[in-house]
Amino acid sequence: MKLLFHCCCGPCAAACVESLRAESIHADGIHAESMALKLFWYNPNIHPCTEYQNRRDAFIRFAAAHCPEPEIIDKYGLRSFLQDIGRATEAPERCEVCYRLRLEQTAAHAAKNGFDAFSTSLLASPYQRHDTIRRIGEELAAGYGVVFLYRDFRPLFRQGQAQARALGLYMQKYCGCVFSEEERYAQRQDVSLDKKQHGESPAFNPLFQRLALITGAEVLEKLARTKVLIFGLGGVGSWCAEALVRSGIGKIGIVDFDTICASNVNRQVQATSRTLGLSKAETLKARLLEIHPNCEVSAWGKVFSRESAADFSIETADYVIDAIDSLTHKLDLIEISCAASASKDAGVTLFSSMGMALKMDPTRVKTAGIWETEGCPLARLVRQGLRKRGFSGNFTAVYSDEDRIECHGEIAAADSDSDNASDNGHENNPYSNKVINGSAVTVTAAAGMILASLVLRDIVKRHETSLPAGKG
Ligand code: SF4
Repeated sequence: MKLLFHCCCGPCAAACVESLRAESIHADGIHAESMALKLFWYNPNIHPCTEYQNRRDAFIRFAAAHCPEPEIIDKYGLRSFLQDIGRATEAPERCEVCYRLRLEQTAAHAAKNGFDAFSTSLLASPYQRHDTIRRIGEELAAGYGVVFLYRDFRPLFRQGQAQARALGLYMQKYCGCVFSEEERYAQRQDVSLDKKQHGESPAFNPLFQRLALITGAEVLEKLARTKVLIFGLGGVGSWCAEALVRSGIGKIGIVDFDTICASNVNRQVQATSRTLGLSKAETLKARLLEIHPNCEVSAWGKVFSRESAADFSIETADYVIDAIDSLTHKLDLIEISCAASASKDAGVTLFSSMGMALKMDPTRVKTAGIWETEGCPLARLVRQGLRKRGFSGNFTAVYSDEDRIECHGEIAAADSDSDNASDNGHENNPYSNKVINGSAVTVTAAAGMILASLVLRDIVKRHETSLPAGKG
């Protein structure tokens, strides 16, 4: 078994070589124990020439110590690189061309020289587009008749960097091409402006390093600039706020008129035996600031309604999370948020939670456009209410299609908090305040996590397509 391993630089090569040596049997049946590993250098994407030479020489030094006699195609190729990318000067199109250029040379060299497989240290970098690299590698493997050995080396990225530092290898400051060098300069200006305005950036904050390993540091900068408003801080909204702040969201507004009671402790993150009787919003604010002291947290101990809507400046948010119980206020929030979403100047993305009470199975919590939801009584009421109001928009709902579980026994009427929409006097509402519904944290927290995940994944997606978070 012979593996040709493309190396983009010394530090990433260091992360991968250790890992390849440590492997015994691979999932795809390739046995690494008998693998003859040959390192390969081909990176015409690195500019200017002095930078190219620094990185090439660091690679040669690493190879000499760990994997002698690498194969090197020594080509500094500014002009040919610019010709290859043509008009695709912006990421991600530019990077796709760049990956293909290097991996195609590797695959062709592997096929021509009797290698069984090829792979790349680009798979070690959290700053690269990992899935794109994998896809291109697999496409080339099919074309050249050699295996693409896919591995996710990213968890070893920091270790590789530490090893490279210990070896005294050159450490690069930008991805490679002239464009990335220019972008790094532009980002430095943005970051220093942000630092002046907001203090230390999350990209440098150890609190969020683990997330940066899978999203890249640039996404953390976007998270820090993102504003989320969460309405309803019960068993769903409180966990959503917790997850977003633990992910480096820079600005968060939390809204709930209620105070904490004993029956909240089973499912609301801010409810403990020490916080009974305190404001849900203010108590959660204190917790969020303990987690991320630089986060801008605004807390409102107020009811959201059409009349109070102006107090929350919804149009300034990137995302609105609806975890409101009252059906009327829920419909108001949906209408107002979707109107802000349609506004040219604002542009807000709404994610809305449906009913999570009377459910026990978190694996039944799912997402769909509101008109496609099925099996959730509250979603049905929301659809009916929106139709009555002449609402024709759409938004993503988080709902459970699990059959409702019957309540066992009765609870004191004072414990009226329910984690589903209840609306006094609504004739078709199965969740009346006269009936207190049971609920489980395993379901409500799952819904809160999914809401937070919708925000995070939307920011990552928009980053990849260069759209501003939440807008448009
Ligand atoms: S940013 Fe990096 S991956 Fe993208 S084109 Fe430039 S060198 Fe290649």
